[in-house]
Amino acid sequence: MADRRARMVDEQLVRRGIRDKRVLDVMRRIERHRFVPEARSHIAYGDFPVALGGGQTLSQPYIVALMTEALELEGGEKVLEIGTGSGYQTAVLAVLANTVCTVEIKLELACSARARLEEMGFENLNFKVGDGKVGWADEDDAPFDAILCAAAPRLVPHELREQLAPTGRLVIPIGGTEEQQLELHIRDAASGSGFRVRRLGGVRFVPLV
Ligand code: SAH
Repeated sequence: MADRRARMVDEQLVRRGIRDKRVLDVMRRIERHRFVPEARSHIAYGDFPVALGGGQTLSQPYIVALMTEALELEGGEKVLEIGTGSGYQTAVLAVLANTVCTVEIKLELACSARARLEEMGFENLNFKVGDGKVGWADEDDAPFDAILCAAAPRLVPHELREQLAPTGRLVIPIGGTEEQQLELHIRDAASGSGFRVRRLGGVRFVPLV
C-alpha cells in the first residue's frame, strides 16, 4: 500500500499544485485504506471520494490536501474539525497540529472513527457527538487557531467564525447540494472583528445538517 500512497501523492497532489511539504509527508504516511469499509479498501487511494455508508463519504485525497494546506498549520495549533466521518482528515490534522477537537453528528460514525484513531495511537484528540454548526460547545476550549468544516452549509455559521482566534483560519464549503465554493476565512490580527475571504474553487460535499 505504501507505493499506492506515494503514487497518490505524486499524481493527485503534487501534480495539481499542493506544495506544503508537511501535508505531502503526512498523506504519504497515513494509511488511508484503514479508514474505509474493508470491502472498499482496494479503492482507498483512487482520485475520488469513497462511500462510508449512510450517504456519507471520505473526501477525495486532493480535497483533503487542499483544505489542510489552506490552514497553514505549523505544529502548535489547536484545531476544530466539523464532520469527523471516517476520521481520516482528523488523523491528518492530528499529525500537523497540537490538538484536534472533532465533532460528528452521526453516533455510529463518531464511535467507529474514535475506536480506529485510538487504536492507531493518536492521543491529541477530543471527540464529541453533536451538531457542529454551533462549533465546540465548551467555551473553555475556544478559540481555535484553525477550523475545518467537512460538510456544506448554505451560509457560514457565525458561531464558527466567532470561535476563531485572531489570524485564525476557517476552511469551509459553502452552497447548496449542487454547487459549492470552498472558502477560506481569515480572521484579522488586530481587532479580531474583521475577516478576509478567499475562494479556493468549486467542490461537492454532503450538506451540513
Ligand atoms: N472528513 C471526513 C469526511 C466527512 S463527510 C473524512 O475524512 O472521512 C462529512 C461528515 O460531516 C459526515 O460524517 C456527516 O455525518 C457530518 N456532518 C454533517 N452535518 C454535520 C453537523 N451539523 N455536525 C457535525 N457533523 C456533521
